[in-house]
Amino acid sequence: MSVQPLGIHHVTAVAGEPQRNVDFYREVLGLRMIKQTVNFDAPDTYHLYYGDEVGHPGTVLTFFPWPGSPSGRRGTGQATATAFTVPPGSIGWWRDRLAALGIGVTEPVTRFDEEVVAFEDPDGLLLELVAHKGAVAEPPQDGPVPGEHAVRGFHAVTMTEEGFEATAHVLAGTLGFHVVGEEAGRTRFAVGDGGAGQLVDVVPHPDAPRGLVAAGTVHHVAWRAPDEETQAAWREEIAEAGLDVTPVIDRKYFRSIYFREPGGVLFEIATDAPGFTVDEPAERLGETLQLPPWLEPRRAEIAASLPPLEVT
Ligand code: ZN
Repeated sequence: MSVQPLGIHHVTAVAGEPQRNVDFYREVLGLRMIKQTVNFDAPDTYHLYYGDEVGHPGTVLTFFPWPGSPSGRRGTGQATATAFTVPPGSIGWWRDRLAALGIGVTEPVTRFDEEVVAFEDPDGLLLELVAHKGAVAEPPQDGPVPGEHAVRGFHAVTMTEEGFEATAHVLAGTLGFHVVGEEAGRTRFAVGDGGAGQLVDVVPHPDAPRGLVAAGTVHHVAWRAPDEETQAAWREEIAEAGLDVTPVIDRKYFRSIYFREPGGVLFEIATDAPGFTVDEPAERLGETLQLPPWLEPRRAEIAASLPPLEVT
């Protein structure tokens, strides 16, 4: 069985103040907060998840908010831009909305025949909106953004790399991607049909500084595995290709393996199941702090260590 992820599962980035993060992604971008939990590897800090109505894989942007974190630095060995899909015709609406909220947004540019605008979140995380016909998610109908303009899941991530060949070799030779286009120093790789959420752009930038992970930068990019059996088979192939891949880790909402591609970007492969309704009903997602079973005995201590969060 050859490795062939179904597309982006989630993207995880670092933020500063958690409340500012919540307010931006819910109220400005109109994403739904689908999970309020802790970083399982550092349970005195939050792990916040945003996505569509139930957090379908391909719509989920997550954050480790580190209050008081210094800013990171975008650079090589990093996913330096995270692009969401919006309906064709909505770019002008979004530019007006962001400008009205005092958020700097670029003029539209054309990339691979699609209109793209870029802006930053309050911590400096670089985001893009791409006018695209396809969509991962159905738009939510009752959020602060009208359904006709709503963000519909990921489009692509862009990786800035010191070199190109080693990363390209792993993407195409090990992970089942194929090149679908080259433009202005950017090589686009796709998996599957190459639709929304199935794209990664590689931009070599040998003179750029090395990226530093802290507030406003991407921590890792997770790709979708359909089930645990497939993930286990892929794990073997990734290990055989000489990549240092972790054992399977239980992330409660998915099972994960991690490895670094040769350029330095941390990749995860996460299963679609069991998903975000495993511990709270779809209509209540994100409203209260959820912990994995092994941290439940420490709930009082953990809750007391976290800054209060207003999520309704
Ligand atoms: Zn992850």
